[in-house]
Amino acid sequence: MNSDRSKQPLLEVNDLYVDFPVLNGMVHAVQGVTLKVEAGKTLAVVGESGCGKSVTAQAIMGLIPVVGGVIRKGSIAYNGQSNIAPFSVDQYAQYKQRIGAGDKVSMIFQDPMNSLNPTLTIGEQISEPLVVHKGLSKKEGQKKAIELLDRVRIPDAKLRVRQYPFEFSGGMLQRAMIAMSLACEPELLIADEPTTALDTTVQDQILSLLSELQQETAMAMIIITHDLGVVARMADHVAVMYAGRVVESGPSASLFSNPSHPYMQGLWQAMPHLDRRQALKPIPGTPPDLSRLYRSCTFAPRCAYRMKVCMEQRPPEFPVNDDQVSSCWLHHDDAPANPLQMMTAGEDNR
Ligand code: SF4
Repeated sequence: MNSDRSKQPLLEVNDLYVDFPVLNGMVHAVQGVTLKVEAGKTLAVVGESGCGKSVTAQAIMGLIPVVGGVIRKGSIAYNGQSNIAPFSVDQYAQYKQRIGAGDKVSMIFQDPMNSLNPTLTIGEQISEPLVVHKGLSKKEGQKKAIELLDRVRIPDAKLRVRQYPFEFSGGMLQRAMIAMSLACEPELLIADEPTTALDTTVQDQILSLLSELQQETAMAMIIITHDLGVVARMADHVAVMYAGRVVESGPSASLFSNPSHPYMQGLWQAMPHLDRRQALKPIPGTPPDLSRLYRSCTFAPRCAYRMKVCMEQRPPEFPVNDDQVSSCWLHHDDAPANPLQMMTAGEDNR
């Protein structure tokens, strides 16, 4: 492989904006998201529900028109070739054709029971992308489905392949979803909260399985989660999202040793630690209404460090170290040494 090509990210999302029309206007779900992932590496996209992480994944999968959204601005480059500014439905359809959704890029959804078709057998559903994208016959697809169920360690694969989703447990359904997403040997796998609906033991098995499969195939992964435990275990790189934007990003080790955005610090303090005895500290307040556009930092109403400037201007991205960046005025060269003294308590001019 050409060395320049090997350094190039497999996927690059640049300045992506996605809106959803609603009765009285627009919900601005994604507002200028930039992220990238390299082959063989795992990017975790972290944040609360509604922060835009799943919508970003849907944009990468080419699903925004299907879910009723509009890409307002931005580009998505896949393998350095599919750089687009998808303003029109036609351009977006061309992009989707290039990435071969379900072929080169595949996705595991959050809730396997609702994502699988209850009227088709597991084997029919796993073999469908092979028939559609790879031109296999139904018989060849069924044979491959048995191999894939074996690969994700579902016992009695020959029997299970003929069963329906209601005959599978939650953990087995998630394994079947993984088998389905791996059917066409994707270069990039997007896993949207892959373990949220599972108990801890099964969660552990699924994460181990994903790591093993990644090592075998060198595929890139994007894991979307609100669980920092999953991030610490799986991710090489982390993008923290809040209110439709990436507010902090960097290598996983760097972010966990030095969480620098107050939102990331809040997530960290709200996470249980075996070596910490004090009570968990939730982040006060709620995320902002994304049908409005803000000129301030959207985290300001919940931030203990907010300063006057936070209410007046949205923070740009500042370097925290060589690899980590944070969109927070605390990292501006002129930020006060003790921002708590500068706090404008109670003021909210968003
Ligand atoms: Fe808090 Fe200001 Fe940083 Fe926003 S920019 S997170 S309000 S300190």
